[in-house]
Amino acid sequence: MDEHIKDAIRQAVKEQIVDLEQGLSDLEERSETVDLDQPIGRLSRIDSLTNQGILLSGISKSKARLTALQRTLQDIDDPEFGHCLECGEEINIKRLIALPESKLCISCAQ
Ligand SMILES: [Zn+2]
Repeated sequence: MDEHIKDAIRQAVKEQIVDLEQGLSDLEERSETVDLDQPIGRLSRIDSLTNQGILLSGISKSKARLTALQRTLQDIDDPEFGHCLECGEEINIKRLIALPESKLCISCAQ
């Protein structure tokens, strides 16, 4: 893989890490402000629980993606990087920029 392509991917990974970290702290802040002990109606209590569940699952998804992106930064110099785990073909560069942690090409991912 060309150095300038690797640089473009590194850049994309770093930008996505910054975005994710920002989104993550936002989600964490919102999940902390859900107050389940407030004397609110049963339905709104269920709403709060549902909202908190959505926030918590968003948090765990963001954390998993953050880990995958950080690993991508380490793997980028690996000669196997950018090759599909399934068919071994090179993964499209646009796909790698959009989703740098991709391990599969578009056709194998479908
Ligand atoms: Zn493939």
